[in-house]
Amino acid sequence: MTDRYASFVQSAAGRALVKRLGLPDPPRLRRHHPGDPLLAGPALLGAATGGRLAEPIAKILTAAGVELRDTGTAGPQDRFGALVYDASGITDSTELRQLYDFFHPQARAVLPSGRVIVLGTSPEECPTPREATAQRALEGLVRSIGKEFGRGTTAQLVYVSGDAADDPAHSAGTITSLESTLRFLLSGRSAYVSGQVIRVGGGAASVPADWDRPLDGQVVLVTGAARGIGAALATVLARDGAKVVALDIPAAGDALAAVANDIGGTAVQLDLTAPDAPTRLAEHLASRHGRVDVVVHNAGITRDKTLGRMDADRWDQVIDVNLSSQERINDVLLARELIPAGGRIISVSSIAGIAGNRGQTNYATSKAGVIGLVDSLAPALRQHGISVNAVAPGFIETRLTARIPLVVREAGRRMNSLAQGGLPVDVAETIGWLAWPASGAVSGNVVRVCGQSLLGA
Ligand code: NAD
Repeated sequence: MTDRYASFVQSAAGRALVKRLGLPDPPRLRRHHPGDPLLAGPALLGAATGGRLAEPIAKILTAAGVELRDTGTAGPQDRFGALVYDASGITDSTELRQLYDFFHPQARAVLPSGRVIVLGTSPEECPTPREATAQRALEGLVRSIGKEFGRGTTAQLVYVSGDAADDPAHSAGTITSLESTLRFLLSGRSAYVSGQVIRVGGGAASVPADWDRPLDGQVVLVTGAARGIGAALATVLARDGAKVVALDIPAAGDALAAVANDIGGTAVQLDLTAPDAPTRLAEHLASRHGRVDVVVHNAGITRDKTLGRMDADRWDQVIDVNLSSQERINDVLLARELIPAGGRIISVSSIAGIAGNRGQTNYATSKAGVIGLVDSLAPALRQHGISVNAVAPGFIETRLTARIPLVVREAGRRMNSLAQGGLPVDVAETIGWLAWPASGAVSGNVVRVCGQSLLGA
């Protein structure tokens, strides 16, 4: 589906009209292409006094080919691809002033589709209430920058656990477990992710031989792969080196085969709600691959009606496809030990599951349940080295959103900091990052891919 307004505002006539009438001005977003540098310009790195992360961040960015500047050497005319700030040294609200001192002079110095990343310590890990208070305050700064800076700039807060420094791969001042998250957030892969709080813990993370193929050799299952977000997922994960097992209902067999052929993957025709679906899937994965490294629960349906008008069938179908089938499949794959240590379970939720939505009590219940699944399963599976995360897409340009009436659709598209809908590839890139072996320290997160939507914010 195309956003004609966003194309129009890129034309000369469109630019003039947008300026004159003060209309929404969706910027063209920088998206990832293999081989691209992480950033369009240098990164300005700052740190609060006493922080523990600036040195490892500098090492990661330098190794990734990013040109680094600091406030001592940056001039007033300099423009930056990213502003990265280590706020882990802030232990009291009176020290928050250091944030103002760093960001205030740079508010107009960020290039289009720039990146702002603030790193700190999870409030729940802080030793004193004062430090926890000050670290929690970082959220307000980051979310406001996401709304203020414009021109496709995104802003995120990354809480880095003290445990991250203890991970086995941690060496010589580098925090390996942070590397995949920094690379994802700086790159065009995170084009439609903004205003997020991401927690990086102490799980094992490995560095890939080639950051352009971060999923090399991984066996990945994608459900609902025949079209929309699932088809984009299959394509992106295969591009990144994965062997993709693409699953969809038999009625979507032709489209599914086309996706699988395109990427050199395999196709499985299966209705996930069939009583024998989990065992048939487990047998397929065991016989063909002996394991599944990454399970992506993407298949989903809507059956919208306000609650008073909704028949029980609509309720049951949505809960079954979007939530219960995920639980049944996880249970069987885990019981048969088909997901090895280092494995990943990634579910697709929705901002409807966070904000609720009129006419979608069934859908929002199922998608909030997916968040519950992450919350409950992630701690239980951490000891087995398996991470569990979800993404919550906002307005994504697919057949699902094409069916929304025009006026509501236009509102949905523009009610976010980037003034446009996301593309299926934006959700796929975010799931890709969570799937990488290098992201083993990212577990228990629900990451919105919504351009910082106002819904549920
Ligand atoms: P879509 O309808 O284009 O694709 C969903 C796929 O799932 C289809 O190919 C369908 O055949 C498959 N599927 C449905 N029931 C199945 C079953 N029982 N067994 C196997 N496969 C089944 O939807 P989409 O927009 O690509 O959405 C993908 C996911 O993203 C869904 O979970 C959806 O709820 C979620 N999501 C989408 C948006 C959006 O804006 N498009 C927003 C938030 C969340």
